Amino acid sequence: MAEIMKLSSDGPDQAMLERAGRVLKEGGLVAFPTETVYGLGGNALDPGASEKIYKAKGRPSDNPLIVHIARLSDLYTVAAEVPEKALKMADKFWPGPLTMIFRKTDAVPDKTTGGLDSVAVRFPSDPIAQGLILAAGGFVAAPSANTSGRPSPVSASHVIEDLGDKVDIIIDGGEAVIGLESTIVDFTEEPPVILRPGYITREKISTVIPDIRTDPGIIAENSDIRPKAPGMKYRHYAPKASLSIVEGPEEEVVGLIRELTHDSITKGKKAGIIATDETCAKYTEGNVKCIGSRGDEEEIAHNLYTVLRAFDDEEVDVILSESFDSPGMGQAIMNRLLKAAGHSILYTGGKT
Ligand code: AMP
Ligand code: MG
Repeated sequence: MAEIMKLSSDGPDQAMLERAGRVLKEGGLVAFPTETVYGLGGNALDPGASEKIYKAKGRPSDNPLIVHIARLSDLYTVAAEVPEKALKMADKFWPGPLTMIFRKTDAVPDKTTGGLDSVAVRFPSDPIAQGLILAAGGFVAAPSANTSGRPSPVSASHVIEDLGDKVDIIIDGGEAVIGLESTIVDFTEEPPVILRPGYITREKISTVIPDIRTDPGIIAENSDIRPKAPGMKYRHYAPKASLSIVEGPEEEVVGLIRELTHDSITKGKKAGIIATDETCAKYTEGNVKCIGSRGDEEEIAHNLYTVLRAFDDEEVDVILSESFDSPGMGQAIMNRLLKAAGHSILYTGGKT
């Protein structure tokens, strides 16, 4: 079993960080908190460590890892070309929940990038993450610390559930503040392209890069187009139950979810409902989870994976979720939900 190391985000114990950093330097694996979700860390410049990460997660080896740094100057060790626009983005959003993709240098092993000649880089803001990265020598490859296919972990207990016997140390730094993965922007193309929506919305990015585009492969209606980020093609973030998203005017959505929940229960199935503070009281059957207020996207994003994991624990058979389309972070929330649902959407008007 992994050693559980408790650290606080305000002033993590330096000696403990050094010890965890040494484990990484020696090729071991350390799971650690970041402001987005928990990461499964290995030395990004060591192909053996990357291989261990894929194995521990059961992750397909063509799905590249994000390299985490904790000093802007370290970017030049892994990125061969850093366009001016990317530096502007770094200036505004780093450290923080933004991942940028560049052409890679030879310092980055092919194993880390899944054979691609580009590398994804992030500079997280969490003090534990920063301290660990520096203690490890500056470059930590870290995908989300979940078993491939399960919802991303936002607390140490989620990591223990999935990887407790597969890593050397799990750092427990409490709940991840954001709870949703970083926004990924590809700078190997001009104009740059958003490959994965996240906490940093397109609107915020366009204040720095007015001609920013979104990869058509990540938009639900175009699901036959291959997304450029290899990880976006998998049905991941998924709960064990079959999940459907119900779309339509609020009153009709509530009506249809009530009806489908009742049907499932009649058939002897266990049904879960993802509702909002505004609608929760309107459901009288099923395991109802209030994910947050419609007016507070950050709260909804923060609770999403915890709710999906809770349904796994309760062993529900079907989950019916309200829809969370909104111009800002709603895009990122819907992207994750759609992937969790394998793109199963039910429209209240009868369209499917
Ligand atoms: P995770 O760390 O689990 O959040 O997953 C990392 C995401 O970044 C996956 O969707 C990867 O496919 C994507 N990614 C990492 N490196 C690259 C790259 N060089 N080009 C495109 N996408 C990448
Ligand atoms: Mg992941």
